[in-house]
Amino acid sequence: MAITLPDLPYKKDALAPHISARTLEFHHGKHHQTYVANLNNLIEKTDLAGEALESVIMKTVNKTDKVGIFNNAAQVWNHTFYWRSMMPGGGGAPTGAIAKKIDSDLGGYNKFSQDFKNAGLTQFGSGWAWLVLKNGRLEIMKTPNADTPSAHGLKPLLTVDVWEHAYYLDYQNRRGDYLDAFIKNLINWNFVNSNLT
Ligand code: MN
Repeated sequence: MAITLPDLPYKKDALAPHISARTLEFHHGKHHQTYVANLNNLIEKTDLAGEALESVIMKTVNKTDKVGIFNNAAQVWNHTFYWRSMMPGGGGAPTGAIAKKIDSDLGGYNKFSQDFKNAGLTQFGSGWAWLVLKNGRLEIMKTPNADTPSAHGLKPLLTVDVWEHAYYLDYQNRRGDYLDAFIKNLINWNFVNSNLT
């Protein structure tokens, strides 16, 4: 069975004005869709055809002859996780287990906000900023291009896409403003809490 493009978990205009319907139309409908199509073309008639997405990622990580497959598979996974990391009316300080853990592991919500924004801002070129679990503790990290924490044994809890295609139509070069909007208005803390348990 081929890998398929999952629907967005909300309507295309649901994240406006922070992320416009036009951005989601291109980002989900063209960029994410293209990673899905490329991946299916690359694994068709190979022993990876029919494998689950996560399995394709784990079987191609650090394999120099399978970089193209890894990149497209990880980008399919990362984008699906990114859509779910956001919700209309989200953002701001978290509640529940993640709130306590951010206090104990990361020095509180304000420090988290600064450090998460900084991870996204300082990812040179394309990539992702993440909140992950490493040995039971929260960590903020960034990955270049298609790279993804699960390929390194880390458990992802939250991500933001900092490829230019994620924000250029709405923010042009102002990546920091996009990250502020993500942190203040879009983070789906329910999703983060569900990933934590
Ligand atoms: Mn993207």
